[in-house]
Amino acid sequence: RMSGPEPREDHRICVCVRKRPLNQRETTMKDLDIITIPSDNVVMVHESKQKVDLTRYLDNQTFCFDHAFDDTASNELVYQFTAQPLVESIFHKGMATCFAYGQTGSGKTHTMGGAFSREGQDCSKGIYAMAARDVFLLLKTSAYEKLDLKVYGTFFEIYGGKVYDLLNWKRKLQVLEDGNQQIQVVGLQEQEVCCVEDMLTLVEQGNSCRTSGQTSVNTHSSRSHAVFQIILRSRGKLHGKFSLVDLAGNERGADTAKANRRRQLEGAEINKSLLALKECIRALGQNKSHTPFRGSKLTQVLRDSFIGQNSSTCMIATISPGMASCENTLNTLRYANRVK
Ligand code: ADP
Ligand code: MG
Repeated sequence: RMSGPEPREDHRICVCVRKRPLNQRETTMKDLDIITIPSDNVVMVHESKQKVDLTRYLDNQTFCFDHAFDDTASNELVYQFTAQPLVESIFHKGMATCFAYGQTGSGKTHTMGGAFSREGQDCSKGIYAMAARDVFLLLKTSAYEKLDLKVYGTFFEIYGGKVYDLLNWKRKLQVLEDGNQQIQVVGLQEQEVCCVEDMLTLVEQGNSCRTSGQTSVNTHSSRSHAVFQIILRSRGKLHGKFSLVDLAGNERGADTAKANRRRQLEGAEINKSLLALKECIRALGQNKSHTPFRGSKLTQVLRDSFIGQNSSTCMIATISPGMASCENTLNTLRYANRVK
């Protein structure tokens, strides 16, 4: 081997796809369900009968992942195959990251549990809550009790390349990088939590801050990345960290020409960050020496979670079942396919 940086410890990545059921609106519009999950790791998109040219029809497209969940899967089941295997790693000084990726309305927030309280949804049913539950269960086991660990939570949002604290009235925060390439989000509220209930209160607080001032459910929050972190510290020193990220909707503005300037900038920023994320995950998977973290605020802020020793990542790509979402669904599946 040529001289150069030592290969990193194996960076594990698990990529899963979750299909949601057709919703009321889609059913009313007589939209067709074009997604099937023939086995627990295969996703098929049936868009046949669309003519490509005189001789060819687009075939059904098939994609393979670590796991594929159909519309009967519960959050608990999805959790068991994605985030749950990563939870224990943070007790071993690990860094874990779980992403929900997909089009707006495909089920990212439903999966994560960053629900809107005013919709009567319950954040205790999502992955944030299940991860918190398991952290406190493990904390009380004899193996980890002696580590004298304390649990903290943070919750922030990245919008337009800026960081806003969801536990502090969306205060805008600076991101600094020191000489050792350590990233610091200056002034980020890191709240100590003593039990699951405390953590759920924190999640609720962040969720309501995220959606406050929105006129419709899917405006601002679907255009921002939300990052919820469970942090373990031992006598103040960082021990392990689990970042759970509800990414901004990946749909491209179909009406970019009509969209106003602000929307265009928003869209460009989202594309940039999702592209940077893909590049970073790919670089890690291939043990490349250079990982382009500086490509976006999102990847910059998550840098320590990616390169920490013993780091692991999972991605839940959420898809809508309808024919009307076909284009976005294929984009999601191709992206997920590239990072695995
Ligand atoms: P996103 O965060 O990706 O924009 P949401 O999580 O807000 O999408 O989901 C949009 C709507 O679809 C919500 O009303 C949500 O409750 C519903 N939904 C999403 N996924 C599922 C699912 N797997 N089962 C039932 N309803 C779902
Ligand atoms: Mg959402």
